[in-house]
Amino acid sequence: MSGNTKKQKNLTPAMRQYQRFKAEHPDAILLFRMGDFYETFYEDAQLCARELSITLTSRNKNDRHPIPLAGVPYHALEGYLAKLVRAGHKVAICEQVEDPKQAVGVVRRDVVRVVTPGTLTDEALLEESSENFLAAVHRQEETSALAWVELSTGRFYAQQIPTEELIDELVRLHPSEVLISEGWLTQKDCALKPLPQSIGCVLTAQESWQFDSANSMEKLTRHFSTTGMDGFGFEADDLALVPAGVVLHYLQETQKTALDHVHRLQQWNTDSHMRIDQTALRSLEIERTLRDGSRAGSLLGALDQTCTAMGARLLRQWICYPLTELDAIVARQDAIAELLQESSALNQSRDALSGLADIERINGRICTARATPRDLLALGETLAALPEISQAMNVCETPILRGLSQSLSQVQPLAERLLEALLEELPLTVREGGIFRNGYHAQLDRLRDISRDGQQWLAEFQAQESRRSGIQNLKVGFNKVFGYYLEVSNRDREKVPPEFVRKQTIKGAERYITDVLKKHEVEVLTAETRANELEYDLFDKLRSELATQSDLIQTVAAALATLDVLCNLAHLARQRRYCRPKITLEPELDVVDGKHPVLEQSLGQQFVPNDVKLSKAATRFLVLTGPNMAGKSTYIRQVALLALMAQTGSFIPAKAATVGITDRIFARVGASDELARGQSTFMVEMVETANILNNATDRSLVVLDEIGRGTSTFDGLALAWAISEHLAQHIRCRTMFATHYHELTELNDLLEGVGNANVAVREWKDQIVFLHTIAPGGTDKSYGIHVARLAGNPTTVITRAREVLERLQQDFSKEVNLSELSAKRDRSTSDDKQRTLFDQHYERVVANLREIDVNNLTPMEALQKLQKLQEQL
Ligand code: ADP
Repeated sequence: MSGNTKKQKNLTPAMRQYQRFKAEHPDAILLFRMGDFYETFYEDAQLCARELSITLTSRNKNDRHPIPLAGVPYHALEGYLAKLVRAGHKVAICEQVEDPKQAVGVVRRDVVRVVTPGTLTDEALLEESSENFLAAVHRQEETSALAWVELSTGRFYAQQIPTEELIDELVRLHPSEVLISEGWLTQKDCALKPLPQSIGCVLTAQESWQFDSANSMEKLTRHFSTTGMDGFGFEADDLALVPAGVVLHYLQETQKTALDHVHRLQQWNTDSHMRIDQTALRSLEIERTLRDGSRAGSLLGALDQTCTAMGARLLRQWICYPLTELDAIVARQDAIAELLQESSALNQSRDALSGLADIERINGRICTARATPRDLLALGETLAALPEISQAMNVCETPILRGLSQSLSQVQPLAERLLEALLEELPLTVREGGIFRNGYHAQLDRLRDISRDGQQWLAEFQAQESRRSGIQNLKVGFNKVFGYYLEVSNRDREKVPPEFVRKQTIKGAERYITDVLKKHEVEVLTAETRANELEYDLFDKLRSELATQSDLIQTVAAALATLDVLCNLAHLARQRRYCRPKITLEPELDVVDGKHPVLEQSLGQQFVPNDVKLSKAATRFLVLTGPNMAGKSTYIRQVALLALMAQTGSFIPAKAATVGITDRIFARVGASDELARGQSTFMVEMVETANILNNATDRSLVVLDEIGRGTSTFDGLALAWAISEHLAQHIRCRTMFATHYHELTELNDLLEGVGNANVAVREWKDQIVFLHTIAPGGTDKSYGIHVARLAGNPTTVITRAREVLERLQQDFSKEVNLSELSAKRDRSTSDDKQRTLFDQHYERVVANLREIDVNNLTPMEALQKLQKLQEQL
């Protein structure tokens, strides 16, 4: 806009007003209300024309410097807003705040709201089954802090967090927008920079001074009207308060409303939840699939048969944040068991839940003064349906269900108040009346009588004038330009009395007004306008009154969500015959006939169940071998998912199970998508492995799929061996290691706690049949060549591969005594062995291979190098 500033003098008053608001919101697209349109100007107009596919025109076309202009009709705002916000833009909405007819000079306008990805409340802009978080982070050396809010529901949390876990937590939280200090964001190595790409959030810089504890404390205490934050469990110097203050400030700046529903800040207790880092979250496909990032095909997708949006959102939370406290897990299990037993209570509850509105988000809209009449009616209807649920649950005795039932029984007065006030059919907007029932407000009734009687009066007036003038088909009509009129067809033109004043000629008729009709019109129309205005005021009052009850509505919404999730889990347990796992503190895992919760759904009866048994006393580290495609990855993921499900309180797909509580689940599986992100696959593999080795405890569960694959055979095997030793001997956690290095099965003889298992296959006439059964003991074959054949590689390649394999195996068995690997070895010796695997012929190729710096190679260059090496061979 800078180029235009010198022409500012020539701007109209409205454009000067625009400039002022734009200067106040430089990082937002400013939608400037002008009559029936929201207009954008200058760069904003160009951007909107592009993003929204709308026409770019200009204001003052004939001027030497026309101003680019693009606008959208006011009634279509929602759709356009959704597009802009989804594309990651911030949008400031500038409304006319006085009636243009009454304005003296330029209409007064104001920015009433700034819409950003993290601060949405509108139903149309939100995904109903996902939360929409706004987060803020405050980074310090060792310990950082994180706060987040969901504006649409008012939930607000803060926690301190080890700096190294910050990114993992952000990935798990999956906020839409993250506030960070300007100073940090502008640093070249700011660790948050990859987040927009990995989770699709927006990073919004805030001035660095805001990240100050006194400043935050002041913001928080003012909002909550408290003297300190100890009432919420935060000491005055708690670092978590810093980002919490930043979040609150941003909400106030963008929403410009009271935010009554953000009425507490809760401490997020990391220790009471299982830690799941971003690698495990992704590898285990907990929330979305690896392949296309969709919810269908993930654990959450397989377990979500909730009946309400509130339940769907809470289920995500339960699954992404499993519990670590025994009592809390057992309490959920007890509730599920009881619902299973009381199956008619379960059925009735699920039936009743199915029709309920998302009152958690309606509450959010009430408190940000954006709820519509239909929102309030939906709230009333939902609250009115709760006694039925409460009654159905009367038979239940477990503490959770009793508590829920009680919460649901307190809302009858509120439901009645709403249903007695509101009509059954409601308009979308709040300005055109038609909201309240007769009898709700005496003055409203009176005004309505005037308009209604007005209709009666018109009918009588028409009959009387018709009689008086002798014009039989004299008609009274109404249009916006002339108001009420009398219409006389040309046939009767002679009969028109002199007091009729002609106003309009239409085809075959003339339209007239009279003094009496005009007087009536003023009376009726003002009564109607006054009635509409009164309804708006009454609606606003009702909405504010409800805002004072937001605490209650939130409690009820939370109770409904919990009930929905418990019913969902009970329903799955019943439908899929899940079992209740025994939860223990002992780090063990014993599952009989376990199934993969997702794959079982698509394969049905064809899915082959399997056992697992890991314990401190016997095997805690399982080396799993078997051919590709046999089911190794499926099995190890299945074990991790079953442990995770058990800690959400859910029953699990197995015949019987004992699950010892796990503090963290680590999962590393093939990183197929890393190449696309421009990272070396092997580097990623090693970083992820390092993370496991540095952070796993003896209470963790580790599943590893193919460590060491991204480097040469000997490097890879050596690494896999050393990593296994470390996990089995030092960390001593429950581990499942699926590997194609069948040499690792020898660890079984060398280390205490290490066992072998393999996925059974049957060889038949040179074919292999996958049985998908896990059997004890190792395998000494990897069947890679069989799989290559199955995949359709040319027979010549397959035959040649067999020859080479045979040769390599002979050489290998001559040269290497693996059991000696557990003892420390001289590096030069193993180098020698590696070389003996190759003929002199290959020396040159090997030397060239060694020179390649994999970390600095584009995929294209890698292909070219590969081709060259092949040619050399
Ligand atoms: P691997 O890791 O050994 O290469 P996967 O775990 O990827 O093998 O499994 C390959 C395919 O085998 C899976 O896509 C699945 O369709 C099938 N499979 C795996 N486990 C089972 C099972 N227990 N029962 C039936 N089919 C299975």
